[in-house]
Amino acid sequence: MRSPPIGLNDFAQQWDLTGSDVHDAVERVGKSGDYVLGAEVEAFERELAETCGVEHAVGCASGLDALELALRASGLQPGDEVITTPLSAFATTLAILRAGGKPLFVDVDELGLLDLNLVEEVLRSRDDIRFLLPVHLYGCPLDLQQLRVIADEHRLEVVEDCAQAVGASDRGTVVGSVGRAGATSFYPTKNLGCIGDGGAVLSEDCDVARDVRSLRDYGQVAKYEHELLGSNSRLDELQAAILRQAMMPRLRRWTERRRGTALRYIDAFRQTQLRVLQVPEGREAVWHLFPVLLPNSSARDSLREHLLARGIGTGLHYPFLIPDQRAMASVGGWSLLTSLERAKRFETGALSLPIHPFLTDDEVSAVIAACLEWAG
Ligand SMILES: *Cc1c(COP(=O)(O)O)cnc(C)c1O
Repeated sequence: MRSPPIGLNDFAQQWDLTGSDVHDAVERVGKSGDYVLGAEVEAFERELAETCGVEHAVGCASGLDALELALRASGLQPGDEVITTPLSAFATTLAILRAGGKPLFVDVDELGLLDLNLVEEVLRSRDDIRFLLPVHLYGCPLDLQQLRVIADEHRLEVVEDCAQAVGASDRGTVVGSVGRAGATSFYPTKNLGCIGDGGAVLSEDCDVARDVRSLRDYGQVAKYEHELLGSNSRLDELQAAILRQAMMPRLRRWTERRRGTALRYIDAFRQTQLRVLQVPEGREAVWHLFPVLLPNSSARDSLREHLLARGIGTGLHYPFLIPDQRAMASVGGWSLLTSLERAKRFETGALSLPIHPFLTDDEVSAVIAACLEWAG
């Protein structure tokens, strides 16, 4: 099946724009003869840390690995419990399981983000829980002040999943800077994507950065000296060079473009049954995705078909809650700490509209017109 003219992503256009920079980056790495953990990764890590407003960034092979290594470097031991969200990419929970942790699921709030009020309530009777893994889902940051207060009061180690939210902030505080560590992904569809797989750990803590550097490289502390049982999770020189030359310099403009499209959608859907995320004042989302919320799955499916018939692709984020995934039935140790009522509303009612930075004004108008036509 051909993808619709207006899709969730447009890599052909991205290539038209970035291709020559990518070629230059590949050429540079090829000529250097330095293909793993060389000058490009080192320079990229410095530039990423600066872009994200944190002290340290450490490149990894994927977002999943970055999350797992961030949890381990934050002190997670096998058997430790981690409060997390049921509404995310499966990788969020998979990282906890791979680090040997036990996921504890708490429901989401009106924005689809881990509900920090519920987390507080849970912690009042469960002060033994030491880890928290929230997700800045859809590119929308959690309340970072509340997150900091909860972490301090309950002495929690927080690892922030920033895979959809590079550059998002709340009242001047950037995502990835509040927890012990943050983790992000350079999977091609993400706000800051590469041409393949990649990820990074962000942290203000130099010990965490040091441990992740070791863990991503077999747990070496010096050549052939292994203090930790690590893995091979290095970011490629090629991807680092491509990110530096072709993607990062364009991130700010791409984010502005996403924000402009989000404003148009929000304004257009005001008087309709299409509910949009009510992002609180002060929180600067980067709009990795733009979900609209329909009252039920039949309305959602009806809008989805209506748009597809007009050449507009949409996505479901996410069609299954993580605890309901079949893979979870084969592992023990995890549990639900609250009902997942609100997460279920996203599971059945959320539909993601195109919001990639290469949409033209006319294409955004076409998406709006088709939605309004459906909403009657
Ligand atoms: C994409 C994603 C991940 C996993 O990143 P990979 O690079 O694909 O391993 C983790 N968490 C969230 C929220 C994501 O969107």
